Amino acid sequence: MPESCLFCRMVKGEIPADVVARTDDAIAFRDISPKAPKHLLVISKRHVASLDEADHSIDLDALMRLAAQVARNEGLAKSGYRVVVNTGEDGGQTVNHLHLHLLGGRQMTWPPG
Ligand code: AMP
Ligand code: ZN
Repeated sequence: MPESCLFCRMVKGEIPADVVARTDDAIAFRDISPKAPKHLLVISKRHVASLDEADHSIDLDALMRLAAQVARNEGLAKSGYRVVVNTGEDGGQTVNHLHLHLLGGRQMTWPPG
């Protein structure tokens, strides 16, 4: 529900967010519990619960491009970074508003846990 959704409330400014970039349709902000030296989230302003539910009304291309832009702004483009979309229970998704994790500033491991 957008009214009670944490990330919708951050979009509306009801809950503080350390926002680093905004477009008409998306925002990027720092993760409150970073799992890497750089850990940002890119979200659609429009509520959609997960990647599984993202239809044509969600511009996934724009979200990916914003992640790449933020990575450049954060100085990660040369060293590299990872973009992750946890989806559903097995995917480890805990906030049910579609978001891209942008992680960087250290060597990532593969496979992920
Ligand atoms: P996921 O587990 O993939 O659903 O990712 C949710 C992410 O949201 C986690 O990395 C959390 O640390 C992050 N998070 C939760 N609450 C906040 C908040 N108030 N501000 C910024 N990031 C948050
Ligand atoms: Zn939401």
